[in-house]
Amino acid sequence: MTTLSTHAASMIPVARPFIGVEEEQAVVEALRSGWVTQGPRVAKFENAFSDYIGCGHSVAVSSCTTALHLALIALGVGSGDEVICPSLSFIATANCIRHVGATPVFCDIDLVTYNLDPSEIVGLITPRTKAILVVHQIGLPAEMNTILAIAKEYGLAVVEDAACAIGSEYEGSLIGRPLGTLACFSFHPRKILTTGEGGMITTNDPLLAEKLRKLRQHAMSLSDVVRHNAKQVATETYDEVGYNFRMTDMQAAMGLVQLDRLPDFLQRRRHLAARYNEALNSLSWLEVPFVPSNCRHNYQSYMVRLVDASAEKRDAVMQQMLEKNISTRRAIMAIHREVPYRLERWEKSLSKTNKVTDTALILPLFHDMTEADQDYIIETLYTAAR
Ligand SMILES: *Cc1c(COP(=O)(O)O)cnc(C)c1O
Repeated sequence: MTTLSTHAASMIPVARPFIGVEEEQAVVEALRSGWVTQGPRVAKFENAFSDYIGCGHSVAVSSCTTALHLALIALGVGSGDEVICPSLSFIATANCIRHVGATPVFCDIDLVTYNLDPSEIVGLITPRTKAILVVHQIGLPAEMNTILAIAKEYGLAVVEDAACAIGSEYEGSLIGRPLGTLACFSFHPRKILTTGEGGMITTNDPLLAEKLRKLRQHAMSLSDVVRHNAKQVATETYDEVGYNFRMTDMQAAMGLVQLDRLPDFLQRRRHLAARYNEALNSLSWLEVPFVPSNCRHNYQSYMVRLVDASAEKRDAVMQQMLEKNISTRRAIMAIHREVPYRLERWEKSLSKTNKVTDTALILPLFHDMTEADQDYIIETLYTAAR
């Protein structure tokens, strides 16, 4: 034990982005080129992203939150509409619905996958329901076939919040090769691939892609790149109210390097997750992540759940970890418990969401985490009092 307890001389973080000299060089190159907002590197990043995912079109934006916001606008979701989504998600999932003037309707989750429980969706559909916002939570794909069948039957659009799901697979296809109408990714440093801040929308619909491209830059009829390269004087028009949701060329330059690293990132995460699974499976008081046979997890986060425990017990385990220099995080939040979304209706109807948010915790997992660090975390969990 003494060797173990001296091992974590400094705090093991729960996550850490992996950024190398190649990213530095790429960003400096972008700066020196003079293109510091959306320019040729954004276009290059979009093409490389489409090639990786295997989708028709990728539209880069400033974050996943603005990606989701724009996706809902492009699909015509607005004031008076309802959008079904999970409460067990990051708050941006619901905020983007509010941003377009619509109302989020929270659907409970499946206690095994922590994703939307398709059997609960139909009971929430009303004449106002316009779309289902599906989250592939912490990188595990949701049960899309069933959800898409429901959406088809009731004429609803499906938007995928794939913020955490880069590299995840559903039935042999990468998430983002559109199953629904649009999929939205995040490049925040807490996700697997980072550009600092950034997001991407993927689709196979060329008209939707064009609409998204226009709306992200003030609904300008000509892009900066087109104007810049025009041989004749070109004047743009603005036919509707647009947004400034652009990604910068510095971010895209970084994204291109990170995209090259992505296969390594995914391989390392899956390797470390498999080590956690193997070591923690035998603990009867812990539930390790379940992966349905038609899915491939990217382990954006590694979340375990205390069986038959309370929030206090979970917090006590986290405290013990912290005292051993291991940083953990509480489970995915429950949006309906935050001030803008609090309603008695939700606290009563979302029992599985409440259970998971109260009893799960996220363990450290990042690209350059050593196996020795991981073994120390595992040992600490083995000996944790609960
Ligand atoms: C991180 C996250 C977002 C927000 O992403 P940003 O790029 O930070 O805007 C949205 N939804 C989910 C599920 C997330 O995990």
